[in-house]
Amino acid sequence: MDAETEELLLSVPARPRGPLLPGLYLVATPIGNLEDMTLRGLRVLRECDRIACEDTRQTAKLLAYFGIQKPLVSYHLHNELGRAEELAAQLLAGERIAVVSDAGTPGIADPGVAVVAAAITAGVRVFAVPGANAALGALVISGLSTEQFAFRGFLPSKGGERRTLLESVLCEMRAAAVPMTQVFYETPHRVVDALADVAAVFGGEYRVALARELTKLHEEMLRGTVDEVRAVLAARESVRGEMVLLLDGTVASAAEAGGSVADAVRALMAAGSDEGDAVKRVARERGVGKSEAYREWQRGKKR
Ligand code: SAM
Repeated sequence: MDAETEELLLSVPARPRGPLLPGLYLVATPIGNLEDMTLRGLRVLRECDRIACEDTRQTAKLLAYFGIQKPLVSYHLHNELGRAEELAAQLLAGERIAVVSDAGTPGIADPGVAVVAAAITAGVRVFAVPGANAALGALVISGLSTEQFAFRGFLPSKGGERRTLLESVLCEMRAAAVPMTQVFYETPHRVVDALADVAAVFGGEYRVALARELTKLHEEMLRGTVDEVRAVLAARESVRGEMVLLLDGTVASAAEAGGSVADAVRALMAAGSDEGDAVKRVARERGVGKSEAYREWQRGKKR
C-alpha cells in the first residue's frame, strides 16, 4: 500500500462494530470469483446463528473455503413459503439469520423474496449485504446506457412465448420517454435461438451485448449487432457458461420503424399469420389500440 492510500484509509473513521443485530441478512456471494466475497458478508456469515441457503452442498463449499462452520437450513424454490414462516418464527425469537443463494444476490432470480416478506410481516429488521450480481456486473461493462435499464430475469424457454415477450418489450421501449437498456439472464443451450428471435423482432442490425462467465477465468464480453453476436456463437462447437444478454435501449419510434399498419399486417399475413393475429400483433408492437389498428388496416388494405 502506498503512503497516500494508507493516509486516506487512516483518515476514514472505522465504524464501530458491535455484535451483529438480530434480524434477517440477505448476503450476496461470488458469481465465479471467490475474491468477490465481501468482508462484511463474511462477518455476517461468521456471526449469524444460522444460514438459510438454496443448496446446502454449494454453500458448505463456500463456507469451507473461508473456514466458517454454521448450521445450514435449505431454503429453495420448492420449500420457500413454508420455510419462510419457520425462519420468521426464529427471527422473532431474536435470531440473526443469513440468506444466501448458490451465487450472487439472493432474491434476484433466486429465492429470498418470501423470507423477506415474512420477516417484514413479523416486524423483524432486514439488512442488505450487497455484493456480486450478474445483471449489474454485465450492465456496467456492456457499453450500453446505464442511465435507465430494465432487468427482466430469464427469457421464456419456448420460442413462441419468447417472441411474444420480445414484441411487448419492443412496444414498451417505443413508448418509453428515454432509452432503456434491457437485461436478461440466458442459458447456453438457448442463447443462439434467443438471438434469432431478437433479430426477428428488433432486426439483425440491432445492437446487443452478451456477457459470459463474468468474473471467471474465461470471462468474455461480445458486443455488436444481433447477427454478429449470433454468428460468433453459432460458429462454436458448443456454447457454454453462464450469460447475461443485454439489448440496446435505443429503438426507432413505431412510425419511424416501418411503413404503415397495413404494410406491417400484410407482411405478417404473407409470413403465415391469420388476419386477426396479424392486426393484434401490429397493434401491440406499435403501442396502439386493436380497434385503431384494425381501422387503419381496413383503410390501407384497399390501396
Ligand atoms: N442471483 C444471481 C445474481 O445475483 O446474479 C442470479 C441467479 S440466476 C439463477 C443465474 C443466472 O445468472 C445464470 O443463468 C446467468 O444468466 C446469470 N449469471 C450468474 N452468474 C453469471 C456469470 N458469472 N456470468 C454471466 N452470467 C451469470
